[in-house]
Amino acid sequence: MNMATGTGSIDRSARVRQIKRVIIALVLLAICVPTVLCIILFFKMGKMEKQIQELSLRKEKVTVVAENTVIKEAAASEAATGIVNTVTIVKNEDRQLNIVNDVVGANVQNVAMEDVSATIEQQQVVPVITEVPTKDTEEVLKPYSERRVYLTFDDGSSYNTAKILDILNEKGVKATFFVVGNENETSYEMCRRIVAEGHSIGMHSYSHVYKNIYSSEDAFENDLNMIQSYIYRTTGVLSDIYRFPGGSSNRVSKQPMSLFEQRLNDRGIVYYDWNVSSGDAESRTLKSKAEIIRNCIQGVENNNDSIILMHDLPEKRTTMEALPEIIDRLKEMGVQILPIDMTAPILHH
Ligand code: ZN
Repeated sequence: MNMATGTGSIDRSARVRQIKRVIIALVLLAICVPTVLCIILFFKMGKMEKQIQELSLRKEKVTVVAENTVIKEAAASEAATGIVNTVTIVKNEDRQLNIVNDVVGANVQNVAMEDVSATIEQQQVVPVITEVPTKDTEEVLKPYSERRVYLTFDDGSSYNTAKILDILNEKGVKATFFVVGNENETSYEMCRRIVAEGHSIGMHSYSHVYKNIYSSEDAFENDLNMIQSYIYRTTGVLSDIYRFPGGSSNRVSKQPMSLFEQRLNDRGIVYYDWNVSSGDAESRTLKSKAEIIRNCIQGVENNNDSIILMHDLPEKRTTMEALPEIIDRLKEMGVQILPIDMTAPILHH
């Protein structure tokens, strides 16, 4: 019985020891496994960090190559077109950054830098030409030799007209005078000189008083008769060209200008406005000679055919001063300077 008891206690203590060992082993295992795992993970993390650094470095290099390519292509495009195309450059930057991101995102560690460069260089740059808006884009301008320029002088004639005629004569140029009904010997004489020296003479109303001329169709017709007979009486020319005082788009007339235009049309009279103003009557203050020259030349530069408005008035001293230089500049440009006749372009406002 005692033996049995003794054997039983040995077995029990042996089992207890065994259980203890198992427990210790389990505890050790529970401690060691996470520790080992931690160590493994630590090394793994280090490795991954290195990989990330390597990839970032690669991405930076690829970006530099991409930018260089864009700059090269932009320079080539600029040289070819003369226009720096910012739109193209922005588009290319976007596109090439996408390529870079694709390369890195796909984790292609084996993609050689040359391959990336080659891929980028293969991208064709389609130049988008940005048009610079200019006045000239609306109308194709003819060479100067094919352009016609008409110098027109309103509001004469008077003793002032002689100066203009002398300049025109000296320069060998014919012009057009739209005269009013000045009743004095000098004006008659000047009208005769205009015709005798080969210039065109046109009507600019007899009275030049807006409120009378444009008050009614009859008043207009009456004034028209007076200026036509004035010119005929003094020069023997039955003029058939007209310029409305203030132009055909004046805002002074209470009547629609189309009524008066119809009256002219019924009588076979053609009216001419202007598309270039010397600016000599645009303000009460006298325009400088330089400004008048600039207005005329710029106008001719921007138009195929130019009808230039100037004034034949004694107080427009700078117009006379500017005239020789205007003619010289026009001659240098090589345009045709002509008097208005039936072949002239009909410019209406
Ligand atoms: Zn006038």
